Amino acid sequence: MKQVTYEGLTFEPYISKEEIAARVENLGRDIVRDCSGKQPLFICVLNGAFPFANDLFRATEELDSEITFIRLKSYEGTSTSGAVKEVLGLNENIEGRTIIIVEDIIDTGNTIYRLVKDLEKANPADIKIATLLFKPDALVRPVKPDYVGFSIPTKFIIGYGLDLNEKGRNLNDIYILKED
Ligand code: IMP
Ligand code: MG
Repeated sequence: MKQVTYEGLTFEPYISKEEIAARVENLGRDIVRDCSGKQPLFICVLNGAFPFANDLFRATEELDSEITFIRLKSYEGTSTSGAVKEVLGLNENIEGRTIIIVEDIIDTGNTIYRLVKDLEKANPADIKIATLLFKPDALVRPVKPDYVGFSIPTKFIIGYGLDLNEKGRNLNDIYILKED
């Protein structure tokens, strides 16, 4: 792991791929334990959550579960734009189902809050939230994730799906913006 630079910003190593893998395995075990006997539908929030959703879904192979994908966007550059717009909708009927939303990161909580409100209209049995990363100090919404990979300070990070203007998603490790 070494420093990486995008758009003139330097990022340094923060969470290694080995640490991520170990944590995701654990979250998978927690979900298997909590959802035994259920048939949960994982809803992966694109684009950022796709590597996490891939690893988490496969870490729950004991479950009789399904996965689907939606797309929302709320971020430009390194600060939130506040506006959340839905780009790709959900086609499945989620009434009566156990939903596990899979997110890359919860920052202000605006995105996940709006998504949960939208999904609730379709009367699922239960909505659980799995997020790889959580910035508790940035939260401005009453949101409580059920499964959190790592709680982190309010800093900008990239890698393992997380981007800076679409760059850096393919980094295997997670990197944090270097401050100087
Ligand atoms: P929220 O609506 O403020 O919770 O922001 C959620 C979305 O903002 C995430 O799904 C990410 O797409 C993006 N985001 C928040 N923090 C970061 C970060 O540190 N790096 C990259 N994207 C981020
Ligand atoms: Mg996201």
